[in-house]
Amino acid sequence: MPLRSTLAAMSLVVTGTVGIDTIVTPKAHAEGVLGGSCAYFAAAASFFGAVRMVAAVGEDFPDAHRKTLLSFKGIDSAGLETRRGGKTFSWGGKYLPGMNSRESMFTELGVVGEKPPEVPGAYRDSRFVFLANMPPAVQGAMLDQFPSRVLSVADTMDLWIASANADLRALLRRVDGLVLNYDEAEQLTEKANVVSAARHILDMGPRFVVVKKGEHGCILVHRDGIAALPAYPSETVIDPTGAGDTFAGGMMGSIAATGSAAGDGKDPGSFDSVRRALGYGTVIASFTIESFSLGRLQQLTRADVDKRYAEFSSMTRIG
Ligand code: AMP
Repeated sequence: MPLRSTLAAMSLVVTGTVGIDTIVTPKAHAEGVLGGSCAYFAAAASFFGAVRMVAAVGEDFPDAHRKTLLSFKGIDSAGLETRRGGKTFSWGGKYLPGMNSRESMFTELGVVGEKPPEVPGAYRDSRFVFLANMPPAVQGAMLDQFPSRVLSVADTMDLWIASANADLRALLRRVDGLVLNYDEAEQLTEKANVVSAARHILDMGPRFVVVKKGEHGCILVHRDGIAALPAYPSETVIDPTGAGDTFAGGMMGSIAATGSAAGDGKDPGSFDSVRRALGYGTVIASFTIESFSLGRLQQLTRADVDKRYAEFSSMTRIG
């Protein structure tokens, strides 16, 4: 069954940051652009169906950015709270030559450092939950808001591993999956080997871990098996920001769409289900990096996604 026919039923929710980014790459820079883990994730997932967004912004959040979010037809923004008197999350990132690593220039939490966003009552029946990057204590509080969840997956990053380690470990005991970068897996586990690090994370609670290795692809370590996928070989890399979040959005979007179509009784967190979804995550991320912010995704159609997915499938076929 084509994924598109099951759009409305997928009940995928994402919580995270919606923010204002300043990005510096070796060749160009962009100031005050739309960013945030939740914004990137939701835009990517919207190619597979409806996605509910839970995040808070301040009164200073530009109208133009709100319009950009709403231009993605699948995004349900009823859970985007505008907090009176609050300041929108903002982040600055600088890429080093080669664009494989970056430094945070600043992180101003604003409303993200205050109380968690309000979750609309209509979202409580969400079955697929993605906890995009934000303080792990807030991610944990969010999880409690979705009692009907059948699959919950979290993201995290170096800042939280260092500053909120106990909260993160408490969260890991409660989620089905974790998505994180290779260096973050190493930081969390103090193990340099990617498989050993991922196995160590499984001991902390989740059933599966997806470790992202940038241009070197990703590795899935699941209680039922291991899979590896290369990245799409991109020629145009303008800004890698959001690659991780949109990878997760493509992955969860396709899991939610396929899982909803299959109905109850099928495990959306099975090894095969997650493995299949990695390809969609990889393809969506490869589009994201072709422009700053959500620029490339705004131009994208589902047909473009499927075309590149088919191309990527044939590239990765062995034998
Ligand atoms: P990615 O490149 O996929 O890792 O994600 C980049 C996005 O994450 C940017 O748009 C930032 O606004 C957002 N971001 C950066 N730092 C944080 C943080 N500490 N918590 C949540 N989101 C963040």
